[in-house]
Amino acid sequence: MKHLSFIFICFTLIFSTQARGGTILAVGEDEGALELAHWLYYTPAKKSDNIDSVKALDSRSWQRLTPAYNNRIGIEAFWVKFSIYNPKEIPIDRILSLANPNIDLIYLFHIVNGEMIDRVIMGDSLPFTQRPIINNHFIYPFQLEPDVLHTFYLKIETEGSASLPLSLSSPKSFAKDIESSSLTNGFQIGALTAIGLFSLFIAISSRSFSYSYYSGYVLSVTLLVATLHGFAFRFLWPQWPLLQKYMIPFLIPTAIFFALLFTEKVLQLKYHNLRMLRLCRYGAGFAVILALVTPFLSYSLSLYINIITILVVTTLLMVMAIIQALKGHKLARLYTLAWSGMLVGSFVSSAMYLGLVELPVSHLTPLMLGLLFEIIFMAAVLAIRYNDERKAKLKIQQEAVIQAQRARETREQALKIEADINEKLEQMVQERTLELEIALRELNEANQKLTEQATIDSLTGVKNRAAFDKRLLAEGRLSRRQQTPMALLMLDIDRFKSINDNYGHLAGDQTLRLIAQTLKEQLKRPGDLVSRFGGEEFAIILPNTGEEGAAQVAELIRQTIYELPISWKERSIPLTISIGVSAEIIDREQDPTKLLEQADKALYRAKNEGRNRVMVYTESL
Ligand code: GH3
Ligand code: MG
Ligand code: MG
Repeated sequence: MKHLSFIFICFTLIFSTQARGGTILAVGEDEGALELAHWLYYTPAKKSDNIDSVKALDSRSWQRLTPAYNNRIGIEAFWVKFSIYNPKEIPIDRILSLANPNIDLIYLFHIVNGEMIDRVIMGDSLPFTQRPIINNHFIYPFQLEPDVLHTFYLKIETEGSASLPLSLSSPKSFAKDIESSSLTNGFQIGALTAIGLFSLFIAISSRSFSYSYYSGYVLSVTLLVATLHGFAFRFLWPQWPLLQKYMIPFLIPTAIFFALLFTEKVLQLKYHNLRMLRLCRYGAGFAVILALVTPFLSYSLSLYINIITILVVTTLLMVMAIIQALKGHKLARLYTLAWSGMLVGSFVSSAMYLGLVELPVSHLTPLMLGLLFEIIFMAAVLAIRYNDERKAKLKIQQEAVIQAQRARETREQALKIEADINEKLEQMVQERTLELEIALRELNEANQKLTEQATIDSLTGVKNRAAFDKRLLAEGRLSRRQQTPMALLMLDIDRFKSINDNYGHLAGDQTLRLIAQTLKEQLKRPGDLVSRFGGEEFAIILPNTGEEGAAQVAELIRQTIYELPISWKERSIPLTISIGVSAEIIDREQDPTKLLEQADKALYRAKNEGRNRVMVYTESL
């Protein structure tokens, strides 16, 4: 039965004009998505075209659609048709899906047995909400009646890639596919967004340039992927088809801009290679210009420029990374590995587009996997770089702390040395001061001794003449002020010349010393003064002593000396002295001298009277 009806349909088709140039696809119960790539025929669209004129075209006008024709940018509008039929006896539900969410306009005409039963306009140049079925892809559900020929005419107008991944699925398998692809895409976009936002937060909190560039790169790539998958149009700007149009040619240079700056940071080109650094920055500048001029260029031209830029920049970055890696930079090696993940992905994707490789996945999948690998790996590279930098900073900090500690220790040492020196210096000064004080005291003592010695007669040890004169004046004043008498005794050794002559001068000196000693012993009052007046003469001052007292003292002295046993070389020396006494209350300044003259006069008298006697001065003398 099936065969019969199929033959019947074929027969009708061969002779009918509407199905010319088309092979008919029998739609079975197969639950999987049925790729329509091999069943598509195309014809370029003309300005005056409408569905009727296209339907009327003969089979020679239609050619089998190959990726070489439509998988390119900037293609003119064209028509695509395919025919299907349901060889079963019951109607089946089918969903036609076009998995290229970036096609600008699709005019879909559903023809059943030559009659148009439906027409739909879709495309991303229309607001998202106008879609008959809300989906990232373009969806057309319909019922396939048994033994009826369904022909679809699609007019495609787009400025971007016109690749037509058309497929036919049962509602069940469609739901399954949609679920798994949403899951994959959702996971991918979710992971990218998470990494992008995470890096952005790190960039904000740590003010790190490398993380800023990286987050810029990841977020722009995320938005680009979301746009390519149709998510961005659906969720972010459903009412802005114009934005949808310019988003891709804007996001590509933006991602390139961030990728270049990020690479510059990861490869640390500032420290390793200035020429590469300049290249990266010029590239980034060019990317900014490209992003800004995009709205003013034709869509296809800007896409072309973008694709060439991607090729040049990815190659350039790869070459730079390899060079730096070969020079032995650890981060450059990791970067090369990450970047090569994306290159392999894009290489496989391109090979699939060109039909060189066939894999049971979507064309974009290897590229997306590579991108995901690259971005995750780059995050790791960045983390390593960040950690290295942190360690280096920590090391510098630690060194600074050690340096500071050393400086502090040195300062403390210097202070200690200074304190020690100061202490020593102080000690030395103290010692010197002490020595000086001792020296001064000694000097003082010596001086005092000298002064004392200056008042002493060197031979006899009693006061000398100068001391006597000074004391005479002082006692004279005292006597005048207190109106007390003072006495003066003038002593002269009798016939002393003969002692010298008979016993020698040494004996004379010895005698003088002995007499002086005796005089000192005889005078008890501390105020009394014995002095050698000159030669063999002595003078004695007796303060606060009257004439009578003075005469008594003089007599006692004379007596003591008379009885003194003096000998020289066992020969006894006869010795006597004569004393002149004068005592008075001093009235005038010149009186002491007068007292001296009077005592001298009395002494003279004593000598004259026969020596060895005391004579007190009286007016009558
Ligand atoms: P008189 O007084 O009793 O008249 O007889 P005199 O011999 O003591 O007389 P005079 O005053 O003329 O002599 C003093 C002598 O004393 C002269 C000198 O040789 C002696 N003479 C004076 N000073 C010193 C002295 O320091 N040492 C000694 N050995 N003799 C002295
Ligand atoms: Mg004399
Ligand atoms: Mg004499």
